[in-house]
Amino acid sequence: MPKISKLEALEILDSRGNPTIQVAVRLQSGAVGIAKIPSGASTGKNEAIELRDGDKKRYGGKGVQKAMSNVVGEIQQSIAGFEGDQPTLDRKLVALDGTPNKARLGANAILGVSLGFSKACAAEKHVPLYRHLADRESYLLPVPMFNVLNGGRHADNNVDFQEFMIAPVGAPTFAEGLRAASEAFQMLKVILNKKGYATSVGDEGGFAPRLKSNEEPMELLLDAIQAAGYKPGKDIAINLDPAASEFYEGGLYVFRKSDQSRKTTAELIALWEDWLKRYPEIYSLEDGLAEDDWAGWREATPKLGNRVQFMGDDIFVTNPQILEKGINQGIANSVLIKLNQIGTVTETLECIELAHLNGYTAVVSHRSGETDDATIADLAVAAGTGQIKSGSVCRGERIAKYNRLVEIEQELGGRGQYVGRKAYARWRPN
Ligand code: PGA
Ligand code: ZN
Repeated sequence: MPKISKLEALEILDSRGNPTIQVAVRLQSGAVGIAKIPSGASTGKNEAIELRDGDKKRYGGKGVQKAMSNVVGEIQQSIAGFEGDQPTLDRKLVALDGTPNKARLGANAILGVSLGFSKACAAEKHVPLYRHLADRESYLLPVPMFNVLNGGRHADNNVDFQEFMIAPVGAPTFAEGLRAASEAFQMLKVILNKKGYATSVGDEGGFAPRLKSNEEPMELLLDAIQAAGYKPGKDIAINLDPAASEFYEGGLYVFRKSDQSRKTTAELIALWEDWLKRYPEIYSLEDGLAEDDWAGWREATPKLGNRVQFMGDDIFVTNPQILEKGINQGIANSVLIKLNQIGTVTETLECIELAHLNGYTAVVSHRSGETDDATIADLAVAAGTGQIKSGSVCRGERIAKYNRLVEIEQELGGRGQYVGRKAYARWRPN
């Protein structure tokens, strides 16, 4: 069994230039695992707590020195000499924190130790992380969803919906899918330029121009896919994350960034029904309703869930207990998975397993604030989710994950299978 000898912590920067924590877990064997923790912007309110210093004189209050001292102080003292497996360590960390949302020691501190330990164990065994997490004969290479047009909280433009993504479902391999997406992305840039739109990129590497409506991104994506020589909906699907919690105010959905219109839950569901009818290219809809609108999710799931992957992010926050409640109420048919929403590797894997056992798909995801840590690529392959979301086809911290998948695909050879259209066969069989 791996034995922990030392924990180290550093305050580093994420892709938005805000501080975040890096944790190194050293084992007695000499193996070391380093984890860099991401950070969200459109966070769900039930997420595990990211501990920030609140000292306005440093990093505007966003410093993580308290989280660092929790790692090298209290956590180190409590697990010094720990010998055991991942679930045992993670249970210890959860118990040591003692709060339901990891608020005391910080989910950023706890995840740093949990993930660092995973990586150290993989290093000790001299196997890649995906193989340490799940040793199988064959693995699935996930369909990536690339967030190429941004709005909502991730962009200073006039689009209310946060993410318009492309997913290369028709490609034979992950690497070919990456090529298709890159070609469509470059074509999108040409089209935006021609129309006189800005081509600067937002937090996740997608373009964020000022557009005429919330729907114009759909037309731009269809044009770009076609101009790149691909068939929309066959070769490349379109996936949406409007992140509806962000524009839910007092029981109404308010399109503050675009036309100022206000919609009831029933009207927003009708809007999605209309879009799904008019755009057969849409395969996946994430956070189509707000995290506080459980009644809306209950109403929407029978109406949309047969036609589209209907995914919960803010509403489930990778929390197995909340997901279970959602499953019991017949809400959604898919869950977005973010390690730092829950704060340990074990609970993350449990959430994916719970989803799969109940016929829900699970999609491993980055955060809008990222680092070059590519762990989620290995996690998606290990857990067999068949889907990953890691931002656009540009910006180093996004590409790190996709490049890691190219590497894994090459390493696996015949033992790796790109999922392609099969990921969405339930909703889009042909
Ligand atoms: P976040 O956004 O990382 O800013 O929370 C990503 C998402 O909503 O999926
Ligand atoms: Zn989301």
